[in-house]
Amino acid sequence: PEYQHPWSRDVRKALLQIFKLKEFRQNQLEAINATLSGKDCFVLMPTGGGKSLCYQLPACVPSGVTNGITLVVSPLLSLIHDQVSRLVSLGVHTISLTGSQTAEQRNWAFSEIYSATPRTKLIYVTPEMIMNSPKFQDALRSLHSRKKLARFVIDEAHCVSQWGHDFRPDYKQLGSLRTKYPGIPIMALTATANEKVKMDIMDCLEMRQCEKFVSSFNRPNLRYEVRKKEKSVIDDIVALIETHYPRESGIIYCGSRRACEELTDKLKRKGLPIGFYHAGLDKDDRIRIQKEWAEGFIDIIVATVAFGMGIDKADVRFVIHYSLPQSLEGYYQETGRAGRDGKESMCILYYCYRDKHTIEHLIERGEGSALQKERQRNNLRLMISYCENKIDCRRQHVLAYFGERFDKANCHRTCDNCRINVKSITKDVREDVKNIIELVWSIQNEKITINHCMDVYRGMKHAKILERQHDRLPMYGKGSSYKKQEMERLFHMLVIQQILTEHLETNGQGFTLAYARVGKNASKFRSGTQAIHFISTEDEGP
Ligand code: ADP
Repeated sequence: PEYQHPWSRDVRKALLQIFKLKEFRQNQLEAINATLSGKDCFVLMPTGGGKSLCYQLPACVPSGVTNGITLVVSPLLSLIHDQVSRLVSLGVHTISLTGSQTAEQRNWAFSEIYSATPRTKLIYVTPEMIMNSPKFQDALRSLHSRKKLARFVIDEAHCVSQWGHDFRPDYKQLGSLRTKYPGIPIMALTATANEKVKMDIMDCLEMRQCEKFVSSFNRPNLRYEVRKKEKSVIDDIVALIETHYPRESGIIYCGSRRACEELTDKLKRKGLPIGFYHAGLDKDDRIRIQKEWAEGFIDIIVATVAFGMGIDKADVRFVIHYSLPQSLEGYYQETGRAGRDGKESMCILYYCYRDKHTIEHLIERGEGSALQKERQRNNLRLMISYCENKIDCRRQHVLAYFGERFDKANCHRTCDNCRINVKSITKDVREDVKNIIELVWSIQNEKITINHCMDVYRGMKHAKILERQHDRLPMYGKGSSYKKQEMERLFHMLVIQQILTEHLETNGQGFTLAYARVGKNASKFRSGTQAIHFISTEDEGP
């Protein structure tokens, strides 16, 4: 029943004539109808899913229920800029109001808002403008009282939530819109929401009885793989690109500005056509590089996570993570920039356990409350457990994080774990875990690392062990039947489960060291309330 609403014909016409599209994608028409009916809507769609149409199209269609201007709140100037120029090129009257405009531009925008019959369909603003500019608030009240305010659209709505990966305090204040402008429907859109973030957004924005449109997050055309980050990583990347993606577009993400520049240097020396991007560059350089990449003058961009939001390049064939991402949510977002055109694309993460300490260090030194830091550490643990997983379908793993159930039969061997099919056996490690807790407990005051504990448990004989006389400990060598990699995985699993923890300390030279300690779940384990499933694989070397 597509023509059940008085506005249905106009909606179809706008799709064809203004947006030049033939069909709606999943949930688009439903969300459009809901907002045109005056209801609050929550739209959750993966990156590239087509969220913009859900509010841009209704902005062009009078519904009789709520007419007038659609106000869009968006977090980034670059995003606003792209959207406005796109809409203007489609012939949709759109303006923006941001702190970076000239007085003249702003005056013009205000005169449009105050005119008796504004032609404008959409106004894009930053959250600061809407919350902190009295002049703009006056203008908004005027629109509201003249019944010319159709709806509020909160784009990138996860910025509202402290649980999300990109919390912005200015967004939090948007919660007051409901009370300040009663009767105006709200549409919140995001590509990132686990259950907690979702509830938090609707709660903060006071969206009660809102209609929810949730699309699947599965991206069938993306292939996922985690590779061990070893010394040969640079050669590995070069070989990968030269063999499979010569002259193709790609992104390589790094954890820091420095890593970004260093990697660019190394890859350039190997002859790859490459540029870098991070928040430390000045604005003109950033715009220039983004443009050069978007237009194909450089194929590959090495970037920090500062690069990405608002990028709409359809033919990105690969996304490589050179450093460990800070959360699964961020990882999903970043990999989501590959393959927007629906063609097969590759997502490879180079993982080494040591990268964990770098991120922990960042969290430690970063701003944010104790609670936020605890969340960040938790996000990191989930990320590590994704990397350490050598058995379960990666799609299933990521989608479960977003609360989505996925049958791994539908992966069709498009992730390394489904493709490689390692032989695995479940091993009862309870005795070993008890021993390891005992071992760490007995020497944790000596500031030893996880690696040291592993070596003691496996019965190694290197100088440090002999010096400290750790070869005389009762637990020394009890795990001698373990292969090295297997022991590593067991210890890492214990850290993920907080049976062991690592305590960070910076030494005089600015190096961060991580010392092993018994974690808060060790006592639960000892008393037998925490089960443990360790799956050992048989493909490992000595
Ligand atoms: P998102 O904001 O969810 O990341 P966009 O709104 O930028 O995604 O849309 C991503 C791409 O999909 C854009 O190039 C857009 O033109 C295209 N698109 C959106 N809706 C449709 C549709 N119904 N049919 C075809 N293409 C669409």
